[in-house]
Amino acid sequence: MKKKHVEVWEKCLKVIRDNIPYQSFKTWFEPIQPVKIDGNVLTIQVPSQFFYEWLEEHYINLLKKTIRKELGSGGRLEYSVIMDSSYHDASPLSVNYPTTNKKATKNKPVSMPLDLNKGNVRDIPNPFIIPGLKKIKVESQLVETYSFDNFVEGECNRLARSAGWAIAENPGKTAFNPLLIYSSVGLGKTHLAHAIGLQVKNNYPGKTVLYVKTDQFINQYIDSVRNNNQNDFIHFYQMIDVLIMDDIQFIAGKEKTQDVFFHIFNHLHQNNKQLVLTSDKPPVELKGMEPRLLSRFKWGLAADLQVPDLETRIAILQNKLYKDGIEMPYDVLEYLAYSITTNIREMEGALISILAQSTLNKKAITLELAKQMIDKFVKNTTREISIDYIQKVVCDYFSLPLETINSKTRKREIVQARQLAMFFSKKHTKSSLATIGLHCGNKDHATVLHACRTVNNLLETDKQFRVYVEEIDKKLKL
Ligand code: ADP
Ligand code: MG
Repeated sequence: MKKKHVEVWEKCLKVIRDNIPYQSFKTWFEPIQPVKIDGNVLTIQVPSQFFYEWLEEHYINLLKKTIRKELGSGGRLEYSVIMDSSYHDASPLSVNYPTTNKKATKNKPVSMPLDLNKGNVRDIPNPFIIPGLKKIKVESQLVETYSFDNFVEGECNRLARSAGWAIAENPGKTAFNPLLIYSSVGLGKTHLAHAIGLQVKNNYPGKTVLYVKTDQFINQYIDSVRNNNQNDFIHFYQMIDVLIMDDIQFIAGKEKTQDVFFHIFNHLHQNNKQLVLTSDKPPVELKGMEPRLLSRFKWGLAADLQVPDLETRIAILQNKLYKDGIEMPYDVLEYLAYSITTNIREMEGALISILAQSTLNKKAITLELAKQMIDKFVKNTTREISIDYIQKVVCDYFSLPLETINSKTRKREIVQARQLAMFFSKKHTKSSLATIGLHCGNKDHATVLHACRTVNNLLETDKQFRVYVEEIDKKLKL
């Protein structure tokens, strides 16, 4: 038969488990051992002073309720705190604390990792506010233009965007806590992180939202150590409702900062506060991270941003132009989106240079101008003309819809366009015949070879055809 204290505690745990998030339960309740029961007083053993204080601070009501449910209205809880024996060689192994009377300790408590004595929130200095200005409102550091409105949705960002939206509706209350957004550079992590923050502020004006770059956080922490006000630093962060940390990978290898962030993270998470993190790598590839911190990053949702497809890239450029009230020929836009494929920031940079060039030199924005600019932009990456681009140029030249190239149709003009696309792909790309065939209507390598021969024959015999080919070739090389 089970001992009574074990039985009572198990019943309590059952109730507690149903009332708090699973991870909180695991962190704060699984390590507890029931020790004994004495009348209506249950004694439980907790691993540290910090642990005890945490329970008292965060779960006192829940504990009280469950204990009373099991042991009657006079039911009480006592803690047995395992002391660090290196500090207390001669003292007993455990100290009992009655609930709701924190200060009645027999022994001096062991040193705590954090000072959890809550001061008046208004005394907490805000590292973002210049001292002397006596302002207590936290400035969110959010950039207005990085809104959801300006964040174009596409297949590449669907998951991260909708998770972000859900968070903004219900910060701290979704399963996406923390939300870790990751991608390589220039794909919208910072933008999306701001958008979440801005939307929270829209939905819940009373919530304290803070966006902080991780290197800023590291510097603030170093300053707080230098000025001996680490606790203020920690308290400040612990009172945030939605904490957005950008480029969390910079914390790698910084053990002290990780340690302090770990405590802030725990505090916020425990209190159903929202964390949004961004990183240039998925969690598994983050090196130099403490395992306990890394494991917490995986508690919520890790969502990546991928390279946007052509349509999304065009939409992003259109959105930007529309916002700035600028008009630009569609073919220029399309060319931009075609040429710069892996980095949205670079694409926007090219757009800005084209605009600047055209304004400075009082030239109209033309495809020619765009091509000159872009060549400068991407010259380091040795631009290879892609099969997609070749198809586009060929179709445009004959005013055919792009899809026809990949269709099954055997109409003469389309067959010819397809053969030309194959011919130019062979000439201008390093792709194999098989790859070219695959991308031009799902044909095999023999068909591509045949197409190249046909084009070469026609070049020798058909004058008009030669003009076509030369003109297309010129367009491709522009
Ligand atoms: P990261 O933080 O991943 O390096 P940023 O958030 O700084 O990338 O994005 C780079 C640029 O691309 C920003 O100007 C941003 O507004 C823009 N951008 C990225 N994704 C989108 C999108 N889906 N819609 C509109 N603009 C975007
Ligand atoms: Mg960024």
